[in-house]
Amino acid sequence: MDFSLTEEQTILQDSARRMVEQEIMPILKANDPDRPLPKSAMLQVYAVFAREGLTAPRLPQEDGGSGMKMLDYGLVFEQLPPAMAISLLSHECTIARIHADSSEAQKAKFLPDLLAGRKICCTGTTEPDTGSDPRGVRARVVEKDDALVINGRKMWITNGTASDIMIATCSAGEGPKGNIMRRVVVERDVSPYEALEISSLGLRQGHLSEILFNDCRVPKENALGQGGDAARILTLTWNGNRPLVGLAAVHLGQKSLDAAIEYSKVRKQFGGYIGAKQLIQERIADIAADVMASRLLCYHALDTIDKGGRANGTSAMAKRFATTACERAVSLAMHVHGAMGISREAGLEQLYRDVRMLPIPDGTNEVLTLITGRDLIGLDAIRA
Ligand SMILES: Cc1cc2nc3c(=O)[nH]c(=O)nc-3n(C[C@H](O)[C@H](O)[C@H](O)COP(=O)(O)OP(=O)(O)OC[C@H]3O[C@@H](n4cnc5c(N)ncnc54)[C@H](O)[C@@H]3O)c2cc1C
Repeated sequence: MDFSLTEEQTILQDSARRMVEQEIMPILKANDPDRPLPKSAMLQVYAVFAREGLTAPRLPQEDGGSGMKMLDYGLVFEQLPPAMAISLLSHECTIARIHADSSEAQKAKFLPDLLAGRKICCTGTTEPDTGSDPRGVRARVVEKDDALVINGRKMWITNGTASDIMIATCSAGEGPKGNIMRRVVVERDVSPYEALEISSLGLRQGHLSEILFNDCRVPKENALGQGGDAARILTLTWNGNRPLVGLAAVHLGQKSLDAAIEYSKVRKQFGGYIGAKQLIQERIADIAADVMASRLLCYHALDTIDKGGRANGTSAMAKRFATTACERAVSLAMHVHGAMGISREAGLEQLYRDVRMLPIPDGTNEVLTLITGRDLIGLDAIRA
């Protein structure tokens, strides 16, 4: 067992840090920190992602992707500012979902602009009455003449307001095995849908949206795969997504650790640096342990995927642990800062708001607990 990064991985991580510092942060800093980035700024960020092969890390090189190992992608992903990391995750895993089980004609039609970062995409599954159990989707797709017609509402869709293309997870009616879920690619310029911004606690430069389909007519050839395959395709990507979301939490936890260490060495109380007080050292040691354990679990889950192992339970464990531990880490770092911890000036309140967003997408903590439990025990409590 080797816990050190290879030379190539260290170079990859360093160059990701430089890319963030030199190219992405200036775009974020030039815009309102509390508002979704304008589309033009999003496209600037996506041009950088595309150049670095991050718009399709999971696609093989022969299909225009970068064919990265998931662990290597995770090392880069951990360096990204989380609002952009979660946007990228939505985009690139939608690309992976379009790529899965689609025809050559569909790949040629949808993928080039998405891979080049000229268009932004998203996946819409969640609805007002359908969250953790995606099999309950009600957005209805019916065939009419030469088109598919979609009616329904999607909620909490990452990238929605900025999107040009969306995979809508729809219901094609009831079959012998229940709801027939169908994946349909909706191109906004051909089949307009309404997208409304949802104002939320954190990740505010990202786009979290409600989508409305009102008799939205989509060409028939935009239906992907086979009716009924949507749950399988969603699950394929979720196992990879979960440790990545965990690494977005690690990014925030690491920032809070760096800030706590720095502050403890300059803030004096009772005649000495607070960093020399034993209880402050305990808090900082706890933060460091939370961040390190989270990072290692997420790396382990991604490495398991790379090695072709079963990752359902491990990926769920990694995300649940990392989002919980890093939320605790950020909160502890705020304690180390006293009143400064809650000020906007110190920046920790933004880390706190951002990290609180992460336990929800790609499986809530409760659902992830039950996925890990099912893997360990072999009995399903999710639908019990
Ligand atoms: C930042 C962010 C980004 C998102 N991006 C997207 C996106 O791009 N596309 C998309 O389709 N959706 C997206 N979502 C939506 C997300 O997938 C859902 O919010 C999530 O699946 C939970 O659904 P819900 O909010 O309706 O909660 P519910 O499913 O209603 O759950 C409510 C509570 O009940 C618990 N619960 C549910 N079932 C069980 C069970 N069997 N046992 C025990 N407890 C249970 C949950 O854990 C939760 O605590 C995003 C959400 C957020 C916050």
